[in-house]
Amino acid sequence: MSPAIPTAITDHRASGVLEIAWSDGTLSRLGHGLLRESCRCATCEQQRRHGAGVPPSDTTLRVVCIEPVGEQALTLGFSDGHDRGIYPFVYLRQLGASCSQPTPCPTPASNVY
Ligand SMILES: [Zn+2]
Repeated sequence: MSPAIPTAITDHRASGVLEIAWSDGTLSRLGHGLLRESCRCATCEQQRRHGAGVPPSDTTLRVVCIEPVGEQALTLGFSDGHDRGIYPFVYLRQLGASCSQPTPCPTPASNVY
């Protein structure tokens, strides 16, 4: 069985949530701050290894650009200027799963625009 791929990506900028609908029918809601903290680029990995903790994020941090990388990943750019993170779909799925347990993802307010 081939891995699920996003069929729709909705960026709820106002509430800071990236919503991904997957080809297997599931839905992931990922906070922009969570995505920033979960960046796996060399710089952020190095910060973690050196015990500097996760990259700084706050509630105003937003994803500002979403670019597909090949057919297996997204590059996300953030409002703090960081745009080196590559997020494989498999990783995004894992983030979505971990996000639903134990604390629920923030539910984006619907139709606020
Ligand atoms: Zn990074």
